[in-house]
Amino acid sequence: MSKIKKERLVNELRIVLRERQKGKCCYCRQPMTAYPRGRMPQGGYRHDGETIEHLQRRRDGGKTTRDNVALACFQCNSDRGAVDWFTYASYRSGELFG
Ligand SMILES: [Zn+2]
Repeated sequence: MSKIKKERLVNELRIVLRERQKGKCCYCRQPMTAYPRGRMPQGGYRHDGETIEHLQRRRDGGKTTRDNVALACFQCNSDRGAVDWFTYASYRSGELFG
C-alpha cells in the first residue's frame, strides 16, 4: 500500500474513532487534543495529545484496522509498555490496584 493511501486511511480511522470515543482517551477517559501524530505543530509532545493505540501490538501481528485500534492520549500510550491493553485499561480506570 502506498504511503499516501495509508496515511489517508489512518486519518479516516482517527475521525471514526474520535467520534466513537467522543474525543476521550480509551484508557484514562480524559479529553484529548488532536494533533497529527500526537505531536504539536512546532514539534514535541503533549500528554493529552491524541495517538493511535494498537490494542494488539503491531510487533505481535496487530493490524491497523478499526477493530484493533483505539485513540489513547500520549501519556497512556507511552506508559503502557508491555502490559496487555485490557489489563492496562482496568488499571488506568482504577479497577485494579485502585
Ligand atoms: Zn489517557
